[in-house]
Amino acid sequence: MTNNLKNIRDLTFEEIEEFFLTHNRPNFRASQVYKWLWSNFVYDFSQMTNLSLNDRNLLISNFAIKSISKYEYIDSKDGTTKFLFKIDNEKVVEGVLIPQKDRYTVCISSQAGCSLACKFCATGKLKLLRNLAAWEIFDQVYLINKFSLEKYKSKITNIVYMGMGEPLLNISNVLKSISLINYSHGLNISQKRITVSTAGITKIIKKIADLKPKFNLAISLHSANNKKRSELMEINETNNLRNLLASVSYFYNITKIKPTYEYVLLSGINDSQDDAEELIEFCKKSPAKVNLIEYNHVKGIPFKKSTKESTQKFIDILEKNKILVKLRRSRGEDIGAACGQLATQNKKW
Ligand code: SAH
Repeated sequence: MTNNLKNIRDLTFEEIEEFFLTHNRPNFRASQVYKWLWSNFVYDFSQMTNLSLNDRNLLISNFAIKSISKYEYIDSKDGTTKFLFKIDNEKVVEGVLIPQKDRYTVCISSQAGCSLACKFCATGKLKLLRNLAAWEIFDQVYLINKFSLEKYKSKITNIVYMGMGEPLLNISNVLKSISLINYSHGLNISQKRITVSTAGITKIIKKIADLKPKFNLAISLHSANNKKRSELMEINETNNLRNLLASVSYFYNITKIKPTYEYVLLSGINDSQDDAEELIEFCKKSPAKVNLIEYNHVKGIPFKKSTKESTQKFIDILEKNKILVKLRRSRGEDIGAACGQLATQNKKW
């Protein structure tokens, strides 16, 4: 029965206010309820003790409170932990905690599955099951933060939307989740510490820019050659490099935030000197930084990671040309928690 009731955690503050207004209840009830939900993380109306019994009952008869409460986790040898969150009692979405010196980065999913089918990505081999609600995205962060506090006595510091799914194809819930994560009486994590990664949905990049966000944008580039990029990423057929560049520079001009180009180095595919030079040309057209990513093996996919030598050579060429470049080493590969490996292969239920 409660299942048929609307989840109150799907409502914005304004919608909760509207609810109390239409039931002739005082306005301040909305902020009380909102704080129980998003500051105190109380998911039981009967525990909302500063509400009258009448108002608690009113809420109970109108709403359910749904949250992700269950997860399993697997530790990697390198300290990374992969989380498997159950949604709809069956589907699983994954999140990852990557502890570093004084940085605790959380990687979260925005969709169950993915519709994009990039050739090198394990999630891309799944179909899109559905978009995640803002609260489902939030709960991954909340639960991983709780885990981090218990295990490392440290709050998480950074959040990357680089798990399963394409965040820009679920943008309204992604934006809602960011404001929930950012809520000053709640988790209170600054937008500057949040990065949303996209395969490059150009129209939405421009829409986001118009909202003047404070969070970072990462673009999965992987090749600065249009033909090559189309071969690696189907999305490039409808969102080609020229449009991508236009949207990225639009984003930069409005926000003054330099986007990061992610570039997975695939041996013999996109790691030659020519590839590096094409990337340099592309980077010179609009301010950006480059994150090179070591390719993580995905079962059934024939790509190989670049050798140490070609990786170093690629970095040298970029650096010589004054491109800001970092190499992101693989973490959690042994447990299938590294970039592009999230496909619930360790599913236990
Ligand atoms: N859909 C979004 C976010 C998820 S992927 C996007 O495309 O950006 C997060 C990053 O991991 C992307 O840059 C993606 O291209 C990269 N990735 C995918 N498969 C990978 C693999 N097998 N090895 C390393 N990185 C991979």
